[in-house]
Amino acid sequence: MAKNDVLADVKLALSDTPEGSTVTEVYFEGPEIVVYSKSPILLMDNGEIIRQLAKDIRKRIVIRPDPSVLADLEEAKLKIKGVVPEEAEMTNITFDPNTGDVIIEAKKPGLVIGKHGKTLRNITREIGWRPRVVRTPPIPSTIIQGIRTILQNESEERKEILHKVGKKIHRTDIAENEWIRSSFLGGFREVGRSSFMLHTPNTKAMIECGVNVAVENSNLAFPRIDLPEARILDELDAVIVSHAHLDHCGFVPYLFKFGYEGPVYCTSPTRDLMVLLQMDYIDVAQKENKHVPYGKKEIKEVIKHSVTLDYGVVTDIAPDMRLTLHNAGHILGSSIVHVHVGDGFHNVVFTGDFKFEKSRLFQAAHYRFPRVETLVMEGTYGNPEDIMSPRQEAEKELIRTISDTVKRGGKVLIPVFAVGRSQEIMIVLGEYIRLDILEEIPIFLDGMIWDATAIHTTYPEFLSNELRDQIFHQGNNPFLSEVFERVSNQNERNSVIDGDPCVVLATSGMLTGGPSVEYFLKWCEDPKNSIIFVGYQAEGSLGRRVQKGWKEISTLDEDHKIKVIEANIDVHTIDGFSGHSDRNQLINFVKAISPKPERILIGHGENNKCVKLASWLYKHFRIETFAPQNYETLRFK
Ligand code: ZN
Ligand code: ZN
Repeated sequence: MAKNDVLADVKLALSDTPEGSTVTEVYFEGPEIVVYSKSPILLMDNGEIIRQLAKDIRKRIVIRPDPSVLADLEEAKLKIKGVVPEEAEMTNITFDPNTGDVIIEAKKPGLVIGKHGKTLRNITREIGWRPRVVRTPPIPSTIIQGIRTILQNESEERKEILHKVGKKIHRTDIAENEWIRSSFLGGFREVGRSSFMLHTPNTKAMIECGVNVAVENSNLAFPRIDLPEARILDELDAVIVSHAHLDHCGFVPYLFKFGYEGPVYCTSPTRDLMVLLQMDYIDVAQKENKHVPYGKKEIKEVIKHSVTLDYGVVTDIAPDMRLTLHNAGHILGSSIVHVHVGDGFHNVVFTGDFKFEKSRLFQAAHYRFPRVETLVMEGTYGNPEDIMSPRQEAEKELIRTISDTVKRGGKVLIPVFAVGRSQEIMIVLGEYIRLDILEEIPIFLDGMIWDATAIHTTYPEFLSNELRDQIFHQGNNPFLSEVFERVSNQNERNSVIDGDPCVVLATSGMLTGGPSVEYFLKWCEDPKNSIIFVGYQAEGSLGRRVQKGWKEISTLDEDHKIKVIEANIDVHTIDGFSGHSDRNQLINFVKAISPKPERILIGHGENNKCVKLASWLYKHFRIETFAPQNYETLRFK
C-alpha cells in the first residue's frame, strides 16, 4: 500500500510549534493538505509557521477550524453582519459544516476581505468559521447559481472525492522517471475533438477532451479513448482542460460515464463556461435528434470533480507532475498549460488556443516559463496567407459598416460564438458609443450570449488590466451598459426583426442553427441590411456559403415546403477580432517564448497548415518540429 509520509511530516513539524497542541487532524484534500485546528490564531493568518512549512515541503497547506470551535449558525450570521461594512452589499451567507467554511456572497468582495484581509480575520476570531468570499454576479446567472448550489449540497461527497485524489497525488511508492511520452487521441491535423495523454512510469494525465460538433460519425467526432493506451479511465490521474470551448472540453462528462473518478483541473471561469456550453451541447443535440453521448448527470459529476486553479499557482497533480496554468488571451479563463515532470526531468508547455496579442478583453498570452523542453502549439492560422488585419483597422471597419447600414435605414446582423467574440464586439461597440463616434442605436443580444456575459462579469480579475481597472476603480462595467438589450423569447425576437434599424449579435456564429439563422432568413432579401462575419466559418456551414457570395438560399416556408430566397444582404467579413493567433503571432510566440524549447509539436489546425507551419519553424529556428497525426505516440525523453 502507498505510504503517505507527507501527512506524518506535517504533523511532526506542527507538534514542535506553540500552536501544535491545537491541531486535531491533518488530511488530504485534492492537491492541498488540510490542517484542522482549534486555534483561531493559526486560522486567522495562516501564521509564519504554516508559510514556512508549506515552503519546506513544497505543498499547499490550508488551515480549517476544528468543528468544536464553530459558532452556532444564527449567531454566526448576526456577527458577520456586524463585522462586514454595509457598503459591501452582501447578498447571501451559507455555511458548509464539512469544511468549516462560511461562503459570503457580496457585490463588493474587496470590502468583505478588508485591508490585507483584516475583516476576514475578524470574522474568524468572532465565529470560528473560515470565510470564503465570492462575487455576486452583477448579471444574475442561473449557471453560476446552479454550480454553487451543487458544490454546497454535495460537499460531503466532494470532500471524500478530494481526499481520494489527495492520497493518490501524494503516494510515495513511485518508480524512477526514465521516460515521458504522449499519445494523440484527437485534434491533431484537424480542428475539433482535441485530446492527448501524457504518460510517465507513474502517471497518466489527459489534456483536453473535446468534441467536433461539425461531424456526425462518432469515430471522428470524439477523441479515441478506445485506443489501448487510453482505455484506462480508472487509472487516469488527472484531466486538464485549457478552456471552455467544446472542441476542448465537450467530451469530458463522457469520461465519468465510463469509470473516471478523478479530478478535472481548470480555472473557475473555465468550469462555469464549460458547464454552460456542455448543457447547451446536449440540448442542441437532443433538439436536432442527434446522438447525445452523455446527460446532465455526467455534467454534474464534472462539477463535483472540478479542482479550480488560479493563474500562476503551482499544484501537484501526481507524485511526479506539477501543473501551472497561465493566461492564454483566447477566451475568459483560457490557459496555457505548463506541466513539470519529476524533479526537473522534463517540462511540457501546451498552448491550447491562444492569442499572442493584447485584445480589448485580455492581456496577450503568457510566454515566460521556468523551464520548457517540449512545446505543443496550436496551428489554426498556420498558413502564410493567414494574416489578420490590425485590431484598430478591424474596429474602424466594423463601426463604418454599422454607421453606413443604419444611415440607409438597414439592420446589422453579427453572427457570433456565445463565448469570446460576442463580448469583444460588445466592448468595442459600447466604447465607440461612449465616445460618440457611433450614434446610439439599440444593440440586441440573442442566444446564449447573455448567460456567457453574466459569467464574464463575475470574474473581472481574469480580464485585461484596462478593463479590470475600468470595472473596479472607475465603477464603469461596460458589460452592464444600457445600450445592450436581451432578446429572451420569440415575441421579442419578432419585434426586433420587424423593428427599426439596430445591431443584433446572435448565435450560432456560423449560421448553423439558433437565432442568427432566423434573423438572416428574414433580413437577407433586403439590400439595405448588412451581415458582418467576425469569426471562423467552417466549410459546409451556411455562414461559409454566404461569405463566399452565394445568392440563392434554400429554406422551408410555413408549409414546410422548400423555397429559395435571394440573398441581397450586404456581406462583410472582418477578421481582426479573432481570439486565435494569426500566422505572424504564432511565429512571434515561438521567437518570444522563454526559455527556448527543444522541440515543437503543432496541432489544432488543418492537415496542410500543421505540416507547413512545422516545417517553416524547423527551417527558420532549427528546432526539432513535429505535426503528429491522431493515434500516434511520441516519446519526449
Ligand atoms: Zn477555443
Ligand atoms: Zn479550439
